[in-house]
Amino acid sequence: MISRIKAFFNGGASGKRRVVTRFAPSPTGFLHAGNYRTAVFSYIYAKQHGGKFILRIEDTDIARSKKEYEENIFESLEWLKLPYDEMYRQSERAPIHRQYLEKLIAEDKAYEGEEARNEGGGKVIRFRNPNKKVRFTDLVRGEIEFDTTDLGDFVIAKSLAEPIFHFAVVVDDYLMGITHIVRGEDHISNTPRQMLIQEAIGAPTPTYAHLPLVLAHDRSKLSKRHGAESMTYYRDAGYLPDALLNYMALLGWNPGTDQEIFDLPDLIKAFDISKVQKGGAIFNEEKLRWVNKEHLKRLPKDALVMNIRDRIAKSSRAQDIGWDVSFETVNRIAPVLVERIDTYGDISKLVESQDLDYYFQNPIYDALSLKWKDDKDLTSVKKHLTHVKDILEKLPSAQWDENGIKAAIWPYAEAEGRGQVLWPLRFALSGKDRSPNPFTLAAILGKPSTLKRIDTALDLCSHAGADANP
Ligand code: GLU
Repeated sequence: MISRIKAFFNGGASGKRRVVTRFAPSPTGFLHAGNYRTAVFSYIYAKQHGGKFILRIEDTDIARSKKEYEENIFESLEWLKLPYDEMYRQSERAPIHRQYLEKLIAEDKAYEGEEARNEGGGKVIRFRNPNKKVRFTDLVRGEIEFDTTDLGDFVIAKSLAEPIFHFAVVVDDYLMGITHIVRGEDHISNTPRQMLIQEAIGAPTPTYAHLPLVLAHDRSKLSKRHGAESMTYYRDAGYLPDALLNYMALLGWNPGTDQEIFDLPDLIKAFDISKVQKGGAIFNEEKLRWVNKEHLKRLPKDALVMNIRDRIAKSSRAQDIGWDVSFETVNRIAPVLVERIDTYGDISKLVESQDLDYYFQNPIYDALSLKWKDDKDLTSVKKHLTHVKDILEKLPSAQWDENGIKAAIWPYAEAEGRGQVLWPLRFALSGKDRSPNPFTLAAILGKPSTLKRIDTALDLCSHAGADANP
């Protein structure tokens, strides 16, 4: 039975084996970028060798494994667009693990022994350690040798039905035909035990690549309290999956050139596992944001506009006030907006802080805010806005863009004072102390809205004037 399972998984004993890697997460919590970085490297390594990438959920710790975490792994890999060729759940493989345990016991390579005294004194299955040196060549860390004597006859199962982690991993890697084990450096000390078990069950030793740990900014282990967020957190915060993927690929690897922005096909071409560094890689949120912005800038314009439009339209402010968030308007705002954001989440922040209001609704403000600095009253505001309105009314639609509007108004502003002319215009269009310049605003708002807002400002001035001088 065992040999039939083996032949099935290994595709027989023919020639050079196809590269098969796996991502083997334990669903005992939300996985972070440090965990998914392993999936990214495993995936890329398999694909650049025309191989297979397997997902194996290591859920044998029944007490700590939760469906919710498993679901999150599926969702995250889907979001990152890292499709697996096969998926297994370790807990469903208990009968297979049992067969291998029975075989080892029958061959006297394992035996039922006592649990250590401090573990309660029950029965466990122990591995008969041949006490020897094991050697392997790690693709990242080079030659590694361990003397296994210190390990003693280590436990491989609590019972026939409960193999411990090392045993299940080795049997599964063997039967799934895993040729390359790419995993975190924290597993390096598990490797000698696992190699002894491989030898005992007649499995070849796969090639190992132990990746440097991903550390928080203070070089502590990345953890919930230290900057570690789930992958779906980044999804929900409006990051691009391609940016996360790109950033994670740079955690411990670089191409040796200045290039930092990659898409997946580029990564599959450029990645070189032998160039992975040995030292820990720091997870840097700022850098991630920068990578995300670079990816945003490279998106096809229509996709960018649609995504920004969705973000704005779904905001409670847009819905409460009933903004008309049209593709055309957002298309005009997008270039300005992209300068101000790193992620789509930043758009939500701009909306909430009412920083985008003037694009979607007429501003409400006090007439006196239109005054430039030391102006005593609204006389100059009225004069300049009237003149600017006249200029803009005459400006042909074909010239209604940022440059055309600027060219039309600039000589007048230069002659009369930039502040005196441009401040009231900008304020009439935005109703805010801070906003893009009036040419940009007018171009985005379009001719009818721009003229209407100038009219409103002039109306406000007249009323304020009437109140001031009855
Ligand atoms: N299930 C292990 C973990 O989540 C990984 C085992 C392995 O990669 O060998 O850390």
